Amino acid sequence: MTTAKARAVDGPDKPFRAAEIQRRDLDLHDVLIEIKYAGICHSDIHTAHGEWGPVNYPLVPGHEIAGIVTEVGSEVTKYKVGDRVGVGCMVDSCGECENCQKGEEQYCLKGNIPTYAGVDKYGEPTQGGYSTHIVVIEDFVVRIPDNIELDVAAPLLCAGITTYSPLNRWNAGPGKKVAVVGLGGLGHMAVKIAHAMGAEVTVLSQTLNKKEDGLQFGAENYYATSDPATFEKLAGTFDLIINTVSAKLNLDAYFSLLTLDGTMVNVGAPGEPLSLNVMSLIGHRRSFAGSMIGGIRETQEMLNFCAEHNIVPNIEIISADQIDEAYQRVLASDVKYRFVIDTSTM
Ligand code: NAP
Ligand code: ZN
Repeated sequence: MTTAKARAVDGPDKPFRAAEIQRRDLDLHDVLIEIKYAGICHSDIHTAHGEWGPVNYPLVPGHEIAGIVTEVGSEVTKYKVGDRVGVGCMVDSCGECENCQKGEEQYCLKGNIPTYAGVDKYGEPTQGGYSTHIVVIEDFVVRIPDNIELDVAAPLLCAGITTYSPLNRWNAGPGKKVAVVGLGGLGHMAVKIAHAMGAEVTVLSQTLNKKEDGLQFGAENYYATSDPATFEKLAGTFDLIINTVSAKLNLDAYFSLLTLDGTMVNVGAPGEPLSLNVMSLIGHRRSFAGSMIGGIRETQEMLNFCAEHNIVPNIEIISADQIDEAYQRVLASDVKYRFVIDTSTM
C-alpha cells in the first residue's frame, strides 16, 4: 500500500480537511502515479455537496489528474517510470460490453468506475485526485504530450475531453456556427477547441464581463444572455450549441437560436431536472442531446489535438488550503478559468 496525503470532505456543508488515504498495492497492470496537479471541476462541487445523490463520505474528489509514473506493475506495457501521464473521470470499466469494445468506456453498460465516489473491482471506494498519489490500471491512463506542462494538462482530462467529444461528434468545423453557453472551465475550453477546429464561435455568457477573454480564446462574437435582445438577434443562427451551464436554464430560449436541424448538446449537469417544450424542437427539426466526457482513445486524441494546436486552459494555481475558497468562487462564476491544486502543498 502507498499512503497518500489528500484533502477530504466529510459532508455536504463541511470544509475540506487534510487526510491520509491508502492506495492499493500494484496489480499486474497497475501504475502508481505521483500526482502533481489536480483541477477543480464543477462536478466535484455537485458531488461534494450531494447534489447528484447520496455520497459516501469522507470523499476525496478530483478527476483532472496530471502527474508522473513512479512505479509499474509487472505486466505493464504502456508506461514506464518517469512518464508524464493523466487520469480523467474514470479508472476502469467492464472492458467487454458493446460500448467498451467501441472505445466508449464512459458509457460502459455495467457502469464505468468513476475516479471518485465509486467502488472499484476490489470492492473499495474510489478516491480522487485531490491527493499525492493514485493507482490506476494502465488502460485508463493517458500520455501527456511533451509540450503541455502538467499544471495546464490537468483540466484537459475533464474540461478538455468533455467539450472536445461533442464538438468532434457534431462536426464543429469550417462553415459551422457554434455557440458556447457559459464561459467557465468547460466553456472556455469549448471556445478554444471549436475555434481550432475551424468553426465560427459565439459565447453566450450571463454578462459581457469576460468578453475580452472570450474573444482572445477564439470567439468571434460574444453576447450577454441577460439582455433579451440577444435572443431576438440570434434566432435561428447556430448549427450547434454546447451548453456548459451548471445550473437550470430556460432551454426553449436556447433552442430558438438553432438552425433547421441544429443541435444543442447539454454537457452541463445541474442536480435539478430541466424542462422543455417540444414545440421548440419540432418547429425546426432541432435536436437536444447529452454527452458525457469521452472514451480513453478519444481523450488521448484530444490531448494530441491540443498539443498540435497549442491549446491549454487558463488556470489559477492554488494550494490545498484554498479548496473551499475556490469552490465559493466557482459557484459565484468567478473562475478564470480553472482552479488547479498544486499537490505539493498537501
Ligand atoms: P464552471 O466553471 O462553474 O462553469 C459554468 C458556467 O456556467 C459559469 O462560469 C457561468 O458562465 C455559467 N453559469 C453558472 N450559473 C449560471 C446560471 N445560473 N445561469 C446561467 N449561466 C450560469 O463549471 P464547469 O466545471 O465548466 O462545469 C459546468 C457543468 O458541466 C457542471 O454542471 C458540471 O458538473 C458539468 N460537467 C459535465 C461533464 C459531462 O461529462 N457532461 C463533465 C464535466 C462537467 P458565465 O459566467 O459565462 O455565464
Ligand atoms: Zn469534471
